[in-house]
Amino acid sequence: DHFLSAIEKHDGQINAYITVTPEPARKAARAADALLAEGDAPALCGLPLGVKDLFCTSGTKTTAASNILRDFVPPYESTVTSNLLADGAIFLGKTNLDEFAMGSTNMTSAFGPVTNPWRRAGSDAKLVPGGSSGGSAAAVAAGLALGTTGTDTGGSIRQPAAYCGITGVKPTYGRCSRYGTIAFASSLDQAGPMARTLEDCAILLESMAGFDPRDSTSVDRPVPRYEDALERGAKGLRVGIPREYRTDTLPEEIAALWDEGIAWLRDAGAEIVDVSLPHTKYGLPTYYIAALAEASSNLARYDGVRFGARVEADTLDELYEATRHAGFGEEVRRRILMGTYVLSSGYYDAYYLRAQKVRTLIQRDFLSAFETVDVLLTPTAPSAAFAHEERPTDPVQIYLNDIFTVPASMAGVPALSLPAGLDRSGLPLGLQLIGRYFEEETLFAAGRVME
Ligand code: GLN
Repeated sequence: DHFLSAIEKHDGQINAYITVTPEPARKAARAADALLAEGDAPALCGLPLGVKDLFCTSGTKTTAASNILRDFVPPYESTVTSNLLADGAIFLGKTNLDEFAMGSTNMTSAFGPVTNPWRRAGSDAKLVPGGSSGGSAAAVAAGLALGTTGTDTGGSIRQPAAYCGITGVKPTYGRCSRYGTIAFASSLDQAGPMARTLEDCAILLESMAGFDPRDSTSVDRPVPRYEDALERGAKGLRVGIPREYRTDTLPEEIAALWDEGIAWLRDAGAEIVDVSLPHTKYGLPTYYIAALAEASSNLARYDGVRFGARVEADTLDELYEATRHAGFGEEVRRRILMGTYVLSSGYYDAYYLRAQKVRTLIQRDFLSAFETVDVLLTPTAPSAAFAHEERPTDPVQIYLNDIFTVPASMAGVPALSLPAGLDRSGLPLGLQLIGRYFEEETLFAAGRVME
């Protein structure tokens, strides 16, 4: 009741939710009360969460923030959300995002932009929450959910977490099942938790993660009790500082905060090591080839016949064209066009194949760095949240915002963002920790020292 009335009171201004489900939530709360009274409660019993509207929820509208799925009600539940439900979680509703998770501002949603609950000191300007999991981040920051699910293809959990002053974890690719999560770029998409603290994220991730035979890239490894890693400390940990991330355009206050983070880890007994990830500068261009190629293929299914919206027309080709033109927003259309282009005959070798090769080089950068260090520390994003009106109109300028988050996604290694301080105008800034495959526990241990 507390969270539902907070949503009713404040979400008109924030727009973190696309759909709120008060009735099922209250019913689940009554069931949770009964279990708690019996003393037989599962781990997340009664905890009210928000679910990014990219996870299929059986019987509850799932839109991907797109007009093409505006009225789509899935007949089945995603594995991640079924895991949370099985552990007793209550869903308050579905949170807003960039359309099909394509973006880093939450301004491409067909359900309107999300407003970051934070403001610059002395200013009323409305700020973006980051994206694509902007609704999930804003909901946690504004107290409209205890925790939320996010998905991260190139930074969509970590960057909005940083912009909204919360914690977000992108696990190793393959750690959480993709079954029932609407696909953007299948070789990169990964679900993860967003919450106030690392402890909350650890508890949520333990529930969300696990092998799933219905996702061919899900990895069959036991899920650790991530909470147990929180008190390990950072003594003896080797922390790498990748020098390529110290770009010429990095704002001074972000560089200063990064140095502070280095000092916190050093004070906790970690050894700080300068490392090089030489292919960092190719991260963004190769991501925006690989991700768009996969997106153009994944989004071919929205044809007006099988799913969602349809615009009637005389011929089948016209039906496809009219449906897809009306159903997809500008950014999604741009990405389908570019993705189709880089996969087309004659350009495939020059773009897509080459990007795949460079992706391997990026992966090797991380593998060789992790021969000498246990974890990497970097800023999460090159800026704090910016105002809705300040959003660059050139898409490439927006893509540049993903510069620090994309490489870990391309390699598939785990990474998290935690709130590390405020900038001059009082806005939160995040620091990112990147770890070895399936060593999320090391991230939780190192992160805890900086909380
Ligand atoms: N901002 C990136 C993009 O637009 C990442 C999005 C994501 O991680 N889903 O593709």
